[in-house]
Amino acid sequence: MAGKRALIKLSGEALAGPGGAGIHGETLTALANDIATAARVGHEIAVVVGGGNFFRGVQGLAKGLDRPTADSIGMLGTVMNALALEHAIESAGVPARAMSAVPMPSLCESYARKRALDHMAHGKVVILGGGTSNPYFTTDTGAALRAAELSCTLLMKATNVDGVYTADPKTDPTATRFERLTHDEAIARNLKVMDTAAFALAREAGLTIVVFSLQEPGSIGAVLEGGGRATVVVP
Ligand code: UDP
Repeated sequence: MAGKRALIKLSGEALAGPGGAGIHGETLTALANDIATAARVGHEIAVVVGGGNFFRGVQGLAKGLDRPTADSIGMLGTVMNALALEHAIESAGVPARAMSAVPMPSLCESYARKRALDHMAHGKVVILGGGTSNPYFTTDTGAALRAAELSCTLLMKATNVDGVYTADPKTDPTATRFERLTHDEAIARNLKVMDTAAFALAREAGLTIVVFSLQEPGSIGAVLEGGGRATVVVP
């Protein structure tokens, strides 16, 4: 099987487990094992991790912080998750490197495109924290940006729903799932694949996006092998 180069976008919630906040040990271990398994069969993997399990910029606004300050705190949360994932993936037996877009060299490497490509070529999973390092952005946008600049063949958007639906399947029992969509169809039907800025960037870069659920163990490997329940959004 030819290995793929893929970027996986994990929200902070993916590490939070049943409590919905912070980091849940078993959830982190299970996720790291899935990523390690996919890396072991030869896929080159970059992970962009969110920080919503610790702090989102909008929460800071409610506390009276200004947006750049609140977003800075949010970005720090993503680095905490990146460090946790780095450790958990290495504990699963696969080398991993956390890289931060916001330089903090005593904690982890600073993000540099060529270094990240080099790590992946040597079988290391790179975990990218710090988002884009700019306020007013999200880690979805960071994921689209890194997937484009690292020439990833797939941008894998992990959610808790197994794809893109005609409506929210949690509230609308008539909602149906798309197997495959084009970027233009997603826009014409006003379907939410990623946040608007992230989707615009992914579309412009011609990225194939796979929206899939982490609820099924092994779903990361299944998507990388072209299977699993997911919606594929193609240029
Ligand atoms: N953030 C930011 N710039 C970025 C990425 C993230 O300012 O490029 C901040 C923003 O405040 C955001 C928080 O970090 O709310 C956490 O990221 P995100 O909401 O994307 O995490 P997720 O929802 O995926 O867990």
